[in-house]
Amino acid sequence: MTKKRGFRIDLHVHSMYSGESLAEPRDILDAALERGLDGICITEHHSLYASRPFDELKREYPSLVVLRGVEISTDSGHMLVYGVEDTEWDDWGKNRLVNGQELIDRVRKLGGIAIPAHRGRSWPAQATRKACISRWTRGLPPLEILQP
Ligand SMILES: [Zn+2]
Repeated sequence: MTKKRGFRIDLHVHSMYSGESLAEPRDILDAALERGLDGICITEHHSLYASRPFDELKREYPSLVVLRGVEISTDSGHMLVYGVEDTEWDDWGKNRLVNGQELIDRVRKLGGIAIPAHRGRSWPAQATRKACISRWTRGLPPLEILQP
């Protein structure tokens, strides 16, 4: 009997287009396969557009699910957004902190999902940890559990 392995996906990945990584898209896709992942989601900062190069490459990696999301800085920390193809992210959050609840409401209205990114690492100085947890736990799924 074989042990059920499940589906392994990294939902928070940055490339050279985020300013947080030096990795080129092809290197990321190769690394995901080498690590035995079934999928990845590219979440560049404040830009869904920035991850477009992955759409062009994913045909070359048929065994890997390649999704695109976005990471937004809010007054409650960084939030990962999935399932929304909103072209206004750049204007919306690039030059100011977005209100966390505003983000959640907007994403829900558009049919997507928002989750806190790297919990505990992106707490804004003016917010207390308790206040952030309180805001985030109002209907938000705490999905990001492991991070390097
Ligand atoms: Zn990030």
